[in-house]
Amino acid sequence: MKTPIYLDYQATTPLDERVLEAMLPYFRDKFGNAASRNHAFGWEAEKAVENARAQVAVLIGAESKEIVFTSGATEANNLALKGIAEMYREKGRHLISAPTEHKAVLDPLQRIEQDGGSVTMLPVDKFGQVKVSDLEQALRPETVLVSLMAANNEIGTLHPLAAIGKLCKARGVLFHTDATQGVGKIPIDVEAMGIDLLSLSGHKIYGPKGIGALYVRRRNPRVRVSPQIDGGGHERGMRSGTLNVPGIVGLGVACELARIELDAETLRLTGLRERMWAKLRSGLDEIHLNGHATERLPGNLNVSFAYVEGEGLMMGMSDLAVSSGSACTSASLEPSYVLKAIGVGDDLAHTSIRFGIGRFTTEAEVDFAAERVVIAVKRLRDMSPLYEMAKEGIDLKEVKWSPTEH
Ligand SMILES: *Cc1c(COP(=O)(O)O)cnc(C)c1O
Repeated sequence: MKTPIYLDYQATTPLDERVLEAMLPYFRDKFGNAASRNHAFGWEAEKAVENARAQVAVLIGAESKEIVFTSGATEANNLALKGIAEMYREKGRHLISAPTEHKAVLDPLQRIEQDGGSVTMLPVDKFGQVKVSDLEQALRPETVLVSLMAANNEIGTLHPLAAIGKLCKARGVLFHTDATQGVGKIPIDVEAMGIDLLSLSGHKIYGPKGIGALYVRRRNPRVRVSPQIDGGGHERGMRSGTLNVPGIVGLGVACELARIELDAETLRLTGLRERMWAKLRSGLDEIHLNGHATERLPGNLNVSFAYVEGEGLMMGMSDLAVSSGSACTSASLEPSYVLKAIGVGDDLAHTSIRFGIGRFTTEAEVDFAAERVVIAVKRLRDMSPLYEMAKEGIDLKEVKWSPTEH
């Protein structure tokens, strides 16, 4: 087995060989500009782009014309949020979202607030889900957009998209979903779910980095977004710039493969995830699952290990490529804001690990990883007076610690 074992599929995914093969000709002799109307090079590139557009569209139940290619989901989210806030400014300046969203949603929302808009953040429960009744109460006459993610990138929690979409439709409010983690992993249908705008990204679904798309509904209602990048009117004016033809071809094939393999992969990945969780639980006590037990991404397992220290834990499993619950933003070791939002205390947040399982993860890798984690946690706990005290039945919250000198 080759180490380190990659278990960080929510951060990015390896490129599928089949995607790479499809892309290669567009780096070589098929190098045309899809906007060149006067010769075969341009026509060939345009044809490839339109083929990919259809492949993306069919995966989410959309039509080709509703797909706008972007540089990724960050740009797609920016276009959706800022583009709607600007376009519907006269109608109202209120948006609704949640604190567990990706930074690529939270930061544009902050910008919109700085520019005079207002944003309501819905509360989330301990699983990271919003309540539709809370959303209903938050809606105002001046609400123009609800933005809630399909699946959370840290804890894997799924949102009830169809129920949210139905409410938004009934109240005449547009619904955007950052479906970067959900597309190709769970069934998504923009019609059935009442989704008006949807962001997706190539590199989370075994496609290339630097390519993504925004779905923008064309009928019932016709949604309009204010462009954020001007310069030539590509993508029906919504996103200018010469199209990344190889990237788009790769995204198209990635979507096609995801669509064909979705059902089988859901079964396989759910099985691997449950296998990992069962092995961790049989080897260790005092561990906690973050996120929902069943309403979660098949390939996401997020676990907190009590009575160990976060950095030590990461060091103890250096042959696993995983993410920890303390994102090293700036210099400080801040616990994840997502775990914070679902009520995980700082201690447990610091010792949480996200295991991201995906297309190329094998059963042998899962077994090896689980074993590694069990050994690492046990070793740290053997050295931990806290774990020992807890095992002796001492309530650590009641202990009066004497100040230590540093
Ligand atoms: C990765 C990710 C993004 C950012 O996508 P890029 O294509 O890398 O810009 C946005 N939202 C979620 C939920 C993600 O997981």
